[in-house]
Amino acid sequence: AILANQISAGEVVERPASVVKELVENALDAHSTEIDVTVADAGLKTIKVVDDGDGIDSSQVQTAFLRHATSKITEQRDLFRVRTLGFRGEALPSISSVSNVVLKTSTGSVGTEIEYKGGKLVSQKAAESRKGTTVIVNSLFYNTPARLKYLSSPNTELAKISDIVNRLALSHPEVAFSFISNGRELLRTSGRGDLLQVLGAIYGVKTVSRMQPIKSEKPDISISGYVSLPELTRASRNYISLILNGRYVRNFPLTKAVINGYGSKLMIGRFPIAVINIKLDPALIDVNVHPTKQEVRISEEPRIGDMVATAIRDMLADKQL
Ligand code: ADP
Ligand code: MG
Repeated sequence: AILANQISAGEVVERPASVVKELVENALDAHSTEIDVTVADAGLKTIKVVDDGDGIDSSQVQTAFLRHATSKITEQRDLFRVRTLGFRGEALPSISSVSNVVLKTSTGSVGTEIEYKGGKLVSQKAAESRKGTTVIVNSLFYNTPARLKYLSSPNTELAKISDIVNRLALSHPEVAFSFISNGRELLRTSGRGDLLQVLGAIYGVKTVSRMQPIKSEKPDISISGYVSLPELTRASRNYISLILNGRYVRNFPLTKAVINGYGSKLMIGRFPIAVINIKLDPALIDVNVHPTKQEVRISEEPRIGDMVATAIRDMLADKQL
């Protein structure tokens, strides 16, 4: 079982950023209103995620570390049908097979503290009773040197973690996020549901005045969000975030639709900052793509793309640009 977990860890836990993503998604699934992420040495020394969510009942804590022991559901294609972000029950067993994990959790009554190392249970005891869950991942990949070797420089790995936390914060402005790396605070959001505040926290308060709301509604599709005016651009597409039914996704045609909305108003090689929220019938989303890769295909992509581009064009016309 430990070997199977290490193999699946190769898929689920590619790098420190994937651990952060899985832990934060678990915290979101548990209805947290505040999620604090702390890392040391780009996550290789420590990744700590503290939430104030539902917690795990002491009788279920060991189960949570069993492979495919999801408390959520079901089939892969249900991914976008359910509200939860996790569904495979692979994250905790995978992470604990390649690190030293301490998880403290409480549903409000007496809590539990459990420790795993290299996939083996080290200890379990009753612990403090603040509601929520704290997961501390130490010495990531200590027993998989090949994995360690494959990683990029600490700065690159930290940038990947930061990127994931930023996207999760953008997808959930109603949750207060903080992100601290080696004692330095890199992100803090209010959790008051204000997407502009999150944008300001990530891209700088000065950018906020140059972000414009966009909107487009059809009976089956709703699009909203913020895009930057053509005067505020970046040299990479990476500042375009797509959020599909509350989940951060990657989709090239829709990213292109955002850019197309600007037409010739963008200089060559320059791209806007954008957060586009797309809400649509989950039946229109195809998740035949590896779920951890965040890549999705959507039927009616062209129609949704048109709506996005038109919403941006309308906003620019409104500003007489
Ligand atoms: P999945 O998220 O796919 O269900 P995981 O391995 O990520 O699988 O987590 C296993 C189970 O542990 C979850 O289904 C959930 O019941 C529980 N769990 C994990 N993290 C948390 C958390 N932060 N708060 C509450 N429950 C959690
Ligand atoms: Mg999960």
